[in-house]
Amino acid sequence: MNNVITTTCGLCSTGCRLSVLCNEHNQYTIKGDKRDPVTHGALCTKGLHAIDIMLHPERLTQPLKRTGERGKGQWITISWQQAIDEIALQFNQTQKTYGDDSVFFSYGYSKDFINTQLLKLANAANSVNIHGPETVCWAPSKYGKEYTLGYNPSADINQQTDCIIFWGVNKHNTRFTEMRAINHAIEHGATTICIDPQQTHHAKKANYWLPLVPGSDLALAMAMIKIIIVQQWYDAAFVADYCYGFSALQSHIQPLDLAYLANECQLSIDMITDITQQYIHAKSAVIITGNALDHNPDSFQVNRAIAILMALSGNLEVQGGQSKPQGKALVNGRWPYDPQDVDQLSPTIRQQSVGSPPIPEYFRATSQGLMDAMLTGQPYSIKAGLIVGTNPMTSWPDSNKVKQAFEQLDFLVVSELFMTPTAMMADIVLPAASFFEYAGVTQGQDGSIHYQAPLQQVGDAKPDHQIIAEIGHAMGIMPVYNDNDFWRSALSPVDIDLIQLKAQTSIVADVEKQQTLSYLSVGFDTPSGKVELYSQKLHALKLDPIPVYRPNLPLTECYPLRVTTAKSRYYMFSHGRQITALRNKYPFPTVKMHSKLGQKHSLKEGDIAAIETAPDKIIYQKVKFDDQLRIDTIVADLSWWFPEMKNKQLSGVFKSNYNVLTSTDVGVHSDIGSFYINGLPCCIYKAINIELSTL
Ligand code: SF4
Repeated sequence: MNNVITTTCGLCSTGCRLSVLCNEHNQYTIKGDKRDPVTHGALCTKGLHAIDIMLHPERLTQPLKRTGERGKGQWITISWQQAIDEIALQFNQTQKTYGDDSVFFSYGYSKDFINTQLLKLANAANSVNIHGPETVCWAPSKYGKEYTLGYNPSADINQQTDCIIFWGVNKHNTRFTEMRAINHAIEHGATTICIDPQQTHHAKKANYWLPLVPGSDLALAMAMIKIIIVQQWYDAAFVADYCYGFSALQSHIQPLDLAYLANECQLSIDMITDITQQYIHAKSAVIITGNALDHNPDSFQVNRAIAILMALSGNLEVQGGQSKPQGKALVNGRWPYDPQDVDQLSPTIRQQSVGSPPIPEYFRATSQGLMDAMLTGQPYSIKAGLIVGTNPMTSWPDSNKVKQAFEQLDFLVVSELFMTPTAMMADIVLPAASFFEYAGVTQGQDGSIHYQAPLQQVGDAKPDHQIIAEIGHAMGIMPVYNDNDFWRSALSPVDIDLIQLKAQTSIVADVEKQQTLSYLSVGFDTPSGKVELYSQKLHALKLDPIPVYRPNLPLTECYPLRVTTAKSRYYMFSHGRQITALRNKYPFPTVKMHSKLGQKHSLKEGDIAAIETAPDKIIYQKVKFDDQLRIDTIVADLSWWFPEMKNKQLSGVFKSNYNVLTSTDVGVHSDIGSFYINGLPCCIYKAINIELSTL
């Protein structure tokens, strides 16, 4: 008999509601749940194939212990008891020998409740070395805007929105649920401006498309600020009453040369002036920023400059403009952390994490700091680690260096769904359950919470939050794991347990009507109580108190082109290359370039191009022509590895993976630890005798 299970997709933080049909042969069909007020029943391609992840024949189903050389794929299966006991023993011994901070804990993209759970374990183990991906995803945007406005604004897009700037973002590919409001505003006449090196979905439909040089965003933002101030287009009343440091900003932009800034972006002054005018003179306007603006060492200041534009334009907390986040979360520990877990160690102690960047609010270890400590023992040794739901062999900078660093570890544990290049480097690999395999809680994009109904168990896989707790218990530093207690604690803001949530299915967030102009009564949550055009906190930290544009890495005779990257709509970072349905839609890593550039290098569509950023940093991707790209810019895929290659060369992780091209050198102005990703100087040539594998 057919059975319909109402549950949620936990692949990303959108948390789409699902109706899963299970037939008499235990075969599943996924559909979006039309009752979901955010998605209205729509799902992205990845979510539609989430069952394929759960039931994939190569899922890890039992704990594995390495028996041969690292990365050679020789394993024996062991029991959970043995795995957890060995991990606890090794972590305890490492800490006794090398100190508490010698064990690191690393998580990936916001998978369920693992970030907070892993921080709890790190706290219990008294290690400051908790690590996440935020230095190149979310942290620059959050802290750059918070340092300026006191909060990280959302976009209140509705029919009153007259102008939308899409800056380094492609909602069509990465957060499709927001497209409904965007389309609605466009239907009501909103002007759209897209700032992106690629002609994305937004660019195709935009009134203005600015294909800037990748990595030159701060030059563009500073040029816009200059134009607004020189033309006196800013909201004078708002600036006078609610901004701190306007005269300092005026003095700062006075010597800036507009022609130089425009040339850095390779955009005309007229074009920059036009779009600035459209933005500033709109009755209400929003700037939507994306992950691309988290990517280079100047990313924190790029986001500062954009927050300054929001303030100068007077679009803060107005209907159809930038909104202040409202409401209280209905769950604890969803993402990123509970403040009390952060506060368990003092800020001074937390800053001892390796590679900790200058912005103290971002207290975590950085990937470059961890690798240096593994390789050099400086500032102290990192000897063991637990990696949960992330694949540093593709996501950390300089993949070759990642391998060398992991080879120096005494003991590495990876919790994963599949055998990844990172898991191959581990001593013990733990089989993690996918979200379909256990009862839990999912938070929707609107803040509502939903019961996540389990479909079935796969092998001996366990949820990550349980695995982390069991390791902590075996180390003698956390209580025994109890599922009821875990979820009751997560649900404490709504004072129910998981069984009650199951009965209710969902609790809808009480989204208050959008507050407008709250700063009239409460000001801004900054040291001055105003928007800080000049940041007192940054001044105290000896960082640039007003954004300063510094050019990206210079082009050279050997490396005359710029390479940048963008997320695919078919894969979640490095995840999903083993799913046949997804791979059939997007079988190969692909580099896009102008046909004239290809012809110049004797490349035609379908050829394999070598992309080189240094003599020892070369990857290979299939050529696709895109004549909307600048002639000197190429766009390569990120995070590629080839699961079908199994143990061969760590599943081909050095062949096409973008992070082979990157480096751990973040320069001296990376306020938040971001490394160079966009606009790396490179060259291309036709690859000889290189084949790219496919399923
Ligand atoms: S948007 Fe996220 S939650 Fe929704 S279906 Fe896609 S992967 Fe799942």
